[in-house]
Amino acid sequence: MSANNFAEQTVSTRGTTPHNGLTGLEELEMGARRIHVDEKRIINCRADLNQLFPLKYDWAWQKYLNACANHWMPQEINMAADIALWKDPNGLSADERLVFMRAIGFFSTADSLVANNLVLAVYRHITNPECRQYLLRQAFEEALHTHSYTHIIQSLGLDEGEVFNMYREVPSIHDKAAWSLPFTQGLADPSFKTGTPETDQRLLRDLIAFYVIFEGIFFYVGFVQMLTFGRLNKMTGSSEQIQYIMRDESMHLNFGIDLINQIKIENPHLWTPALQEELRHMIDEATQLEHRYAEETMPRGILGLNAAIFKDYIQFIANRRCIQIGLKELYSGATNPFPWMSEIMDLKKEKNFFETRVTEYQTGGTLNWDED
Ligand code: FE
Repeated sequence: MSANNFAEQTVSTRGTTPHNGLTGLEELEMGARRIHVDEKRIINCRADLNQLFPLKYDWAWQKYLNACANHWMPQEINMAADIALWKDPNGLSADERLVFMRAIGFFSTADSLVANNLVLAVYRHITNPECRQYLLRQAFEEALHTHSYTHIIQSLGLDEGEVFNMYREVPSIHDKAAWSLPFTQGLADPSFKTGTPETDQRLLRDLIAFYVIFEGIFFYVGFVQMLTFGRLNKMTGSSEQIQYIMRDESMHLNFGIDLINQIKIENPHLWTPALQEELRHMIDEATQLEHRYAEETMPRGILGLNAAIFKDYIQFIANRRCIQIGLKELYSGATNPFPWMSEIMDLKKEKNFFETRVTEYQTGGTLNWDED
């Protein structure tokens, strides 16, 4: 269907603010013609946003169904062993307690930032019901993740004020959150509207900042740290909470990558060499921030981990993120020092629509990952 057909509005836009795409809350016009599936667009859609079916973007609907099949609740996980170990004065070393506290410190506010970004910034600019259906599920999962951290904090009797203020008080945690906020603030600005090459490009860039960098890079040192506790049979309940969260986050990332690639397909003029250069620079900056976080959380090697090993890992992850959105790799020769992470998540579950269809989602709420 040609662009000219969009002039033939299917819903009235009277009483709405001018916007190149619709919101889904426009006035209803009796007898308006039915929309055709080809009129659906990820951004700047001019066809009724409340018509989920017929589907155009089957991958988004499938991710919604898969996310629902992965449902879990934090309080279902037994925290008794963690409580006993944490309260035992000889249970964990000071360095182990530091890395644990900082991981929970980063996570506890980071997922709230993601939720606010989704609800207050991303949602209104994504003008497609299939994608919005997934975003609604994702927003709930972000709430579950914050719930999970509070469950850990309260089970162990951690200082809530200390944990929730680390993003204001611990430099490397602050720097990651502070780096990402301007990308949200732009999209959340009520005067920001898509519909021009400049604003559409800004939306694409900011989606990449949030899905590919914030969700796709900034969580991964913490994931490795928390899963390593579990692999060493320490803090197993907390580690299991993080496994569930990582399974959700992997799908958030995959959805974001499919979303970004579909916007690129529908708007190829946005993918300019200048944007690609800017994105590579952003991913490089983020990689350095994540490495600084590894250094600050692990001033000395513990649990068989150290900051130097993480440099390779973060670069490996960053390369993978570049490839997933069609950018050249940044760090030649970076290898994965944690092949067990790939076993669990990165490569096995991080398949997205543009690579290959995922065939191995869980059908129930319990974890069923292979141990290596
Ligand atoms: Fe997420």
